[in-house]
Amino acid sequence: MRRIMQAIICVMVVWFGLFELGGFGAYKGEAAKEPVAVQAQGSAKPATVTYYEEMPLLAEPAAQESGEQARQADKRAAQNGKTVYLTFDDGPSRHTERALSILKEEGVKATFFVLGEHVNQHPELAKRIIEEGHSIGNHSLNHKYDRLYGSFAEFADQVMKTDELIYKTTGVRTTLFRAPGGTYGNFDQGYFDAMEAAGYQVHDWNVDSGDSKRLGVPSAEILDTIKNSRLADKLIVLLHDSATHEESVKALPEIIAYYKSKGYSFAPMTEETKPVQFTLASKLKWTRAKVTKAQAQKLTQFSEALGRSVRQEPAVSPEPALILHRGEERLELKPEEYGVTKGSIEVSLLKLMDLIGGSTEMDLENGEIEALKDGVHVIWLCSPAGNSGAIQEERIAVPVRATLQKFGIGITSFIYNDEQREIWLAE
Ligand SMILES: [Zn+2]
Repeated sequence: MRRIMQAIICVMVVWFGLFELGGFGAYKGEAAKEPVAVQAQGSAKPATVTYYEEMPLLAEPAAQESGEQARQADKRAAQNGKTVYLTFDDGPSRHTERALSILKEEGVKATFFVLGEHVNQHPELAKRIIEEGHSIGNHSLNHKYDRLYGSFAEFADQVMKTDELIYKTTGVRTTLFRAPGGTYGNFDQGYFDAMEAAGYQVHDWNVDSGDSKRLGVPSAEILDTIKNSRLADKLIVLLHDSATHEESVKALPEIIAYYKSKGYSFAPMTEETKPVQFTLASKLKWTRAKVTKAQAQKLTQFSEALGRSVRQEPAVSPEPALILHRGEERLELKPEEYGVTKGSIEVSLLKLMDLIGGSTEMDLENGEIEALKDGVHVIWLCSPAGNSGAIQEERIAVPVRATLQKFGIGITSFIYNDEQREIWLAE
């Protein structure tokens, strides 16, 4: 029974959950058979333990704010009547020049979501887009799906590089963004959140001209597709002006004529334009790691350095200390000095015994820990586990309620939430 153990983590023989006995079943934990008293740092700490019946509901200011913005944008759109936003992706290319000329003749303003690499190839066209009163948007550097959607770090890198290229070429900083291929199946919530936090507006579309469903879709078919699309007060029409999209440009005069005949006016997108976004796909087309905080922050910091208003993430409040009260006595444990394992609060045995006026004896070589108070002896037997080296006495943690019970000490009340963690012991 008495075995010599080095490199041990003690496994307590008995366990009672503090919360279990309190009748609060909200913590989702597997009922433990073997409570493990381990170093606090290694303890699994659930993010929250809910026990109050009257749980104050947390407001969501960010969501309310964007809801208000959306309402304002809708109001403006309603006042403006029926609007078409013509959007051209993947340029600029040799066909952009003709598209610009047609738009000029028709007195129509549009939005060009350009590729950084194509801006490099046709800087004069990028400049002309701006000079002629159109909007310019970011469509990534090279449109390579596997790179953009294989990792957010690469995606963000392309967003930033293209942002810089557009600025250096045209003098315009744009926060308009369109995801290559659209967001559906490509973006996860992390992509949306990171882009929004960094102050970009991600625009999908609600009219697909179908000019990219295969190579060389004829202009008549493009026009047909548009005419067969559902009309709404606000239309975002997807077109392309890359080197392979001559037919889209060819169809442009008739596309404009069609919308004019339906009573639409044309507008370039601005930062105020409420984005149309696809819903999140239940399954992504890509297998990739989640967007990390550091990756998202890099993009946010880039935007912030440019003086854009970025959404600061709410500061993560530190874990509160755990305070144990017994009469006038008070034991304050820093977050690293206590843990919650399977619904049970665990604290240092040494400190707990000190608080209740007991003592401890450790015979770790023989795998025994003994706690004494008023003639009551509680002995824990340790079993070997892990290879953490010699155990440190102060790191041995025991479940509070179960341990106190053995010494006949009850818990009169406790508070345990994200801000306040206190336990009052009977005297
Ligand atoms: Zn594209």
